[in-house]
Amino acid sequence: MFLDFTEEQIRRYSRHIILPEVGGKGQRKINNASVLVVGAGGLGSPGSMYLAAAGVGKIGIVDDDRVDLSNLQRQLLHSTPDVGAEKVESARETLQAINPEVEVVPHRLRLKADNILPLIREYDYVVDGSDNFPTKFLVNDACVMAEIPLSIAGILRFNGQLLTVLPRKGPCYRCVFQEPPPPGLIPSCQEAGVLGAVAGLVGILQATEILKLILDREEEQERQITLVDTNKMSFRSIAVKRNPSCAVCGDNPTITELIDYDDTCDIRTIQGE
Ligand SMILES: [Zn+2]
Repeated sequence: MFLDFTEEQIRRYSRHIILPEVGGKGQRKINNASVLVVGAGGLGSPGSMYLAAAGVGKIGIVDDDRVDLSNLQRQLLHSTPDVGAEKVESARETLQAINPEVEVVPHRLRLKADNILPLIREYDYVVDGSDNFPTKFLVNDACVMAEIPLSIAGILRFNGQLLTVLPRKGPCYRCVFQEPPPPGLIPSCQEAGVLGAVAGLVGILQATEILKLILDREEEQERQITLVDTNKMSFRSIAVKRNPSCAVCGDNPTITELIDYDDTCDIRTIQGE
């Protein structure tokens, strides 16, 4: 099979091409793939950097924020001179510098129920590196509806968790967690902190999962949630099953339209806190 790599591509991707599990054919699959990364933050930074380095053909970056000094402890897409700049622009510069072959598409917006589906349908895979539960559930539900494989992860303090969702084939985020926790119940990284390197670790696990999906090496991972505890340096994978009564991917789904939890489900208001 003639794969039509340039000399430069053969050198750039030689450590992939030499892997029997990748080879020229696998590298070509990576070059032809597109991935949308939600959030140019602690998870999205290492995730997108490794995807760009690997040669993923098109990488979309969604973020509506600007770089803040407090981001730099873990968000390696951005450097000190980028403080104040749009994150998607800073991300694009970094990723293009890593690999000019990759098409990087900045999407400076906040994902909402009314804009997410057309956007994710432009991509083969989605990486959720958002920092809040409403977005995670929105991204999960949209990926299930559009049947787009998704890596979804969370980090806090010294811990992380990771789930790869293969819509209709395995459990989704909602099969495991049902619905977003009440606002304020689980502290955010801003409130409770996160070790920067843990963001890096978990973001790279997400990139690894996506690359394995591109290479058709998903094996069993779609049926487990992986819990990372760097205090104990333990990685625990817990078997999870698709929930037949899941509101979005179950046999009789009750969620058939996307919901903006920010607007419709502020449980704090209901509880009068
Ligand atoms: Zn589900």
